[in-house]
Amino acid sequence: MNDQEKILKKFMTGLKRRNPGEKEFHQAVHEVAESVLPFVEDNEKYKKAQILERMTEPDRVIIFRVCWTDKKGIVRANRGYRVQFNNAIGPYKGGLRFHPSVSLSILKFLGFEQTFKNSLTTLPMGGAKGGSDFNPKGKTDNEVMRFCQSFMTELSKYIGPNEDVPAGDIGVGAREIGYLFGQYKRLSDEFEGVLTGKGLSFGGSLIRKEATGYGCVYFTENMLNHAGESIEGKICTVSGSGNVAQYTVEKLLHKGAIPVSLSDSSGTIYDKDGITLEKLAWVKDLKSVRRGRIKEYAEHFGCEYFEGKNPWGIPCFAAFPSATQNEIQKEDAETLVKNNLRAVGEGANMPSTPDAVEVFQKSGVLYGPSKAANAGGVSVSGLEMTQNEMRLSWTREEVDQKLQEIMKKIHTECVTWGESNGKVDYVKGANIGGFVKVADSMLAYGAV
Ligand code: NDP
Repeated sequence: MNDQEKILKKFMTGLKRRNPGEKEFHQAVHEVAESVLPFVEDNEKYKKAQILERMTEPDRVIIFRVCWTDKKGIVRANRGYRVQFNNAIGPYKGGLRFHPSVSLSILKFLGFEQTFKNSLTTLPMGGAKGGSDFNPKGKTDNEVMRFCQSFMTELSKYIGPNEDVPAGDIGVGAREIGYLFGQYKRLSDEFEGVLTGKGLSFGGSLIRKEATGYGCVYFTENMLNHAGESIEGKICTVSGSGNVAQYTVEKLLHKGAIPVSLSDSSGTIYDKDGITLEKLAWVKDLKSVRRGRIKEYAEHFGCEYFEGKNPWGIPCFAAFPSATQNEIQKEDAETLVKNNLRAVGEGANMPSTPDAVEVFQKSGVLYGPSKAANAGGVSVSGLEMTQNEMRLSWTREEVDQKLQEIMKKIHTECVTWGESNGKVDYVKGANIGGFVKVADSMLAYGAV
């Protein structure tokens, strides 16, 4: 074991002792520490102030009971969370996830990642994440509304436009944000930008719903252009069929690429002819209005469906994991590489396991890690906050232009910190690029 490995091991042993059993959180910190610790070792000011150790400890964690009544009149209880991770560079900012798998470990990993991601956007936003183990799937609109109202009744005590501004994530889309914002407004009697991803009629920003998917394609295009290549005419696979997946497919189509897959937790559709804008419109209706399963796409359009499978067995030039964490395992990465994969744009958060990332990096694939590649969503959330403060709305073109500029700046930051011998290590670039601004602010504040 060399010195660097010893330092990393010691760091991770301490983290695991302080946070037992939180394996997703350990994974996210390990990925950052691997590239940031050597940088800290070379910079005495960060080392002396124990900045990275301090950054792994959330500012605070709020956990609360959420009671609501189901359609049969039975009282149900779920657990609500908000992890306010770090507000060194701006108010806490990060999504809310409603999914049965939500745990403290998952929200700490997401909040930790969010701190770096938000720093990379160049906008003044701290990092946070929250949510509940409530499962909106199969619930009526009224049940979802009652849950959201109860959840916000408690959460409202801890958020505010200059304090903490949540947004959506898995299971929290336009419907849920509407109910949450409505309840906040009712409790506070103030109309203020306390959530982002709002409807356009009540303070939302154009391009917010598109932003994560669009931004991920812009970032991937930046990586390809930097290597003298392009995405036009290339076969692309996309996983998931929710917000991020839908708008990734849409932007791929704008760029002349050929998206051929979508998935959900039941299986994957493989449309060899390519998903078109017309077919995508059908998917948006299926997922957001009828709330059906992706299998219905295969039945409706007559293409292949792989029950219980992900899309990574399908040969492609670029892969866009847009469903959930750890959805690309080592074997999936090996299959993708064997099928001549050239680029990965991570729309989901931490979708590739550490050994899958290693496979991508060793094989020279252009690998765009989530904290850089999917930062478009939170960037436009930041722009929504600005528009709310200014009490005006920018046009679609203005917001899209700003989104493209931000994704370009994030790419440049990754190249600045991650390029050596003509190759860019985007993991290292994103981690160090995200770290420096937060670390310098924490240094300026002293021991707080
Ligand atoms: P949605 O709820 O809109 O869609 C999630 C999609 O992923 C659904 O198709 C869902 O299928 C699938 N999925 C969820 N969990 C699993 C699982 N365990 N196995 C297989 N498929 C699964 O969420 P989003 O599109 O908003 O989020 C997707 C990812 O992108 C998440 O990792 C999120 O953190 C990340 N992200 C989202 C941002 C945003 O702006 N929305 C911003 C940045 C990152 P099913 O319906 O069957 O559950």
